[in-house]
Amino acid sequence: MEVLKEMAQETNQSQAPLLCSTDCGFYSSPRNNGMCSVCYKYFLQRQNSSVRPLLTAALEGLP
Ligand SMILES: [Zn+2]
Repeated sequence: MEVLKEMAQETNQSQAPLLCSTDCGFYSSPRNNGMCSVCYKYFLQRQNSSVRPLLTAALEGLP
């Protein structure tokens, strides 16, 4: 069944494991903004806790 083979290959390509963008060693998920579930949870917590994300980003950009 050639069709099933091709479908399987496509599935494997889309599920290629990517490492977490924070280099924590875990695998990331596209649903988690390129982070693993643990780092994404912290990421969401930081976003929720920062009242002014724009100001925070500007301050972090300063030398
Ligand atoms: Zn991570």
